Formats: sequence, structure tokens, C-alpha cells
Amino acid sequence: MASPVILWFRKDLRLDDNLALLKAVKSGRPIIPVYIKTERPSPYAPLGAAQDWWLHHALASLAEALGEKNSRLILRAGEPAKALDALIAETGAEVVAVNTNPDPEAIAADGSIAETLKKNDIAFHAFEGALLHDPAKLLTGAGGGFRVYTPFWRALNQHAPPSPPLDAPKAWTNPGKWPKSETLESFDLLPKKPDWAKGFAATFRPGEKGAHERLKHFAHSGIKGYAVNRDLPGMDGTSCLSPHLALGDISPRRIWQTIKARSGHGPSDEDISRYLKELVWREFSYHLLHHFPELKSRNWNGSFDAFRWETDHKGLKAWQRGMTGYPIVDAGMRQLWQDGWMHNRVRMIVGSFLIKDLLIDWRTGEDWFRDTLVDADPGSNPASWQWVAGSGADASPFFRVFNPILQGEKFDPDGAYVRKYVPELAKLPNALIHRPFEASLAELKAAGVSLGKTYPHPVVDHKAARDRALSRLSQLKDENDQPVKKIRHE
Ligand SMILES: Cc1cc2nc3c(=O)[nH]c(=O)nc-3n(C[C@H](O)[C@H](O)[C@H](O)COP(=O)(O)OP(=O)(O)OC[C@H]3O[C@@H](n4cnc5c(N)ncnc54)[C@H](O)[C@@H]3O)c2cc1C
Repeated sequence: MASPVILWFRKDLRLDDNLALLKAVKSGRPIIPVYIKTERPSPYAPLGAAQDWWLHHALASLAEALGEKNSRLILRAGEPAKALDALIAETGAEVVAVNTNPDPEAIAADGSIAETLKKNDIAFHAFEGALLHDPAKLLTGAGGGFRVYTPFWRALNQHAPPSPPLDAPKAWTNPGKWPKSETLESFDLLPKKPDWAKGFAATFRPGEKGAHERLKHFAHSGIKGYAVNRDLPGMDGTSCLSPHLALGDISPRRIWQTIKARSGHGPSDEDISRYLKELVWREFSYHLLHHFPELKSRNWNGSFDAFRWETDHKGLKAWQRGMTGYPIVDAGMRQLWQDGWMHNRVRMIVGSFLIKDLLIDWRTGEDWFRDTLVDADPGSNPASWQWVAGSGADASPFFRVFNPILQGEKFDPDGAYVRKYVPELAKLPNALIHRPFEASLAELKAAGVSLGKTYPHPVVDHKAARDRALSRLSQLKDENDQPVKKIRHE
């Protein structure tokens, strides 16, 4: 029997559209599927505690899917290089196959593992599949990375249209003897005392099966009307596929193809193209990360390095706990705590509130999201925070400050979203649900609300906070000594 190949799963926890698996099957060698648990900080680990919860369930799902193919998932923990060495010694494997994780830190870590393996005559084969495009190959006419979304979208469609996804193989060869495996429980990925993730399972089913169920449901009922519904947090109007993408339970090519195939079957062209454009924002975020790996920690627009942020512990606590006194902000932060996820429109509102109303550094928000979101992503999270801050590529200008009252009234007009996540305000009429601080005592009493007791007073006055943010911004200058708001990124 030929020596086995170690199929090392990382953020590609699926059998469908898995090129490393298909190539391993094609080689005819026995396959040993492996997952190695690493401690943070590591590019191979989940980004935060909420994603640990997801990982636990996604690994259980992967092990089950492998079992159905008469295979197994071998679990190990520790430094990947050492864990691989041990497995190679135990099994006589001569090849390690992976799908690349496009985070530049993961690519660098893979590079050093590949080099060490090569010294011992072990091959390291890496395949693509986490993205629709290759950030190193899809470049501007001048040969650099894109900085503006629309030309990036156009170029992706014209020069790098996504290839079709590949079906999972039906069967493959097993090793004569399986190496030992740790138990999933020994990874200790689930929170216990308290079990703050108990609400997550009501919203999500992590793993490949859950991802395909979600995609099927969305492709048949959610995509119709997406262009409008996607902005309404009170509706189930988006696909909720982001956490599945973050750990690779599903491939973006599978999503792209399934949604495109719905054209002419109900959803409008606008619904479909809007959805594909959102999917490509994820691509754009990884593109930015590839060309500017410091995206997670440094302002993409260096003019923001001089910005004077506030240290506001009280404001930060109120924001994190969903107790700012602005209902749409509080609903979003409580959705994050309860479900491990937040609607995109509300992410923009709570992000703007933290950065512009409280003047807290976007990196503090990025950090909190990284730990609490099940879809925490090394590209989309910092790119989106920098977009909201105005310090990012093709960003929303800093002087555009979201008004949390008007945003609430526009995108949650009947208050359904606020009523769900801030139940103490549920009895307020629509006209007051986003502005309880303007209600009369009689109106508050009728709704059972006592400001300062059952629901907080606003932590800041939005109008004053907006003026403070704009005045702070006016002190920033670009390299030509012009106010920073005039900067354009072309
Ligand atoms: C401050 C802030 C932080 C964010 N952090 C993350 C993060 O850590 N991980 C993450 O996946 N997304 C992040 N986003 C982007 C976006 O909010 C989520 O991708 C989206 O809400 C996921 O829900 P969905 O799958 O239902 O989206 P859908 O509307 O169904 O969109 C389909 C897919 O497109 C991609 N997508 C949609 N919008 C965006 C966007 N603005 N940027 C990048 N990709 C997008 C996602 O992969 C999503 O699953 C962030 C946005 C903001 C404003």
C-alpha cells in the first residue's frame, strides 16, 4: 500500500468543493483527515471565544460526514509543526495536503511548516478554495492591488469569473491502521459556567450540513426581495452564511453558483446581483488584507494616525452591554451577545456610535467583535471597522455620522428588531420606540418604562457628540496639509 497523505483541515471544514481532498483521492494514497487545535494567537485558531463554540460543532459535523464515508477525523492539539511531525512518524505519511487560508499570517505560517517538512522529504501541497479570486493575481492595470470596490468587482467578473464548485468525492482509501485521536471534549471549546452561548444554537447549525440547509432555504425563499430586505434587521432578509464561510463549512464558489442559478426563477436580477456584490465585499476585504497585512492594527489611511481618541471606560461598557440609551444600538449589541451575530446594517450603526459618538478607537470595537462574533473574520472585520471609521480603503467618509434615531426609524420602522432584543421597551408606540428619551412621563408610564431604572438615559447627546467628532476631525490634516475629509482614494 502507498504511504498515506495527511489531509490537514483548518478553516475549510467541509467535504464539498475541497480541492485538497479531491487531489488526495486522485493520488490513490490512503487519506488521514486531521484537525490540530492550536491556542490563540495563532492564524490556525478561531479568532475568538464565540468562534470556538462554532468550531466545536463544525468539527462534530465534519467527523460525522467523514464517518458516513467510512473515514475518520483524527484530532490532535498543540504546535502544528510538532503535531504533524508526530503524525508523520506514527503513520509513515509522505505528503501533507491543505487548502490555503488566505490570511497572510496563515500563509506565512504554512510557508515555514512547508520548509521544515521539505527538509525531511515530506511534501506540502497547498490548494485554493477559500476565495473566488486570487488576490496576488487579480491586479489593477498598473499592477497593484485594488483600493476601490467598484473597479475590483468589475475586474473580478471580467478577468476572474469564479470557476464552478467541485462535488465531494464518493469514497477513498483508508490507512491500514488509524493513528490515535484526542476527543473533541478534550478541546474544551464550549463555554460552561456560565454557558453564554446557549442562545447561539437557536439561530445557527454550525457545520457543512447546516451551511447547505441555510443556502438552500435562502436560495429558495430569502433571495427574492434581498435588494430591499437586506437592510431591514427586523426581517430574516439575509443569508446568515457568514459564520459558515468564516470556518469554511461551505465554499464561496458553491454559494456563487447556487445563487446565480436562481436567475429567472423568482428573484429579480437586482436581488441576485446585489447578493453577489455583497459576497464580493468579502473578497475585497481579503484583497485589502493581502496587499496591506497590517489592516488589523494600522489605519489604512495613515492621516488617521494623528486622531485623538478618547479613553471612555463608562461609554465602552455601556456599548458592550447594550445599555447606551439608544434603542437600535442596544438591540444590536444585545443581538451580538445573544446570537453571536449581528445584522450588517446594525453593525454599521453600532460601529459609527462607538467611533463617532463615543470617539473610541475602531480597534477597540474590532477587538470586541473578534471575540464575540461567530463569523469573526481576519479580512472582513478590520476592513469593515476601517470602512466605518473612515480610515479604510474606499471608506465611508468620517464626516458622515450615523444618527442612531433616524437610522432606527428608517430601517426598523415598526420597531420589530428593537422590541425583540430590548424587551423592556416593547410596549412603546412606533413613534417613540427609537426615541424613548423624548417620551412624556405619561407615555413612559403607559409602556412600563422608567428611564434611568428599567432602561438607561442616553450615555451621550447625539447632536453634541456629532459636533465633537467633526471638530476633532477638522484637526486632522492629510499629507498636503488639507483637512482629511477631502482625501479621495482612487
Ligand atoms: C463593523 C463591521 C464588522 C464586520 N465584521 C465582520 C466579520 O468579522 N466577519 C464577516 O463575515 N463579516 C463582517 N462584517 C460584514 C457583514 O456585516 C457580514 O458579513 C454580514 O452581516 C453577514 O451576514 P449574512 O451572511 O447574512 O450576509 P448576506 O447579506 O447574506 O451577505 C452574503 C455574504 O456576503 C458577505 N458580506 C456581506 N456584507 C459584507 C460586508 N459588508 N463586508 C464583507 N463581506 C460581506 C458575507 O460573507 C456574507 O455571508 C462586518 C461589518 C461591519 C459593519
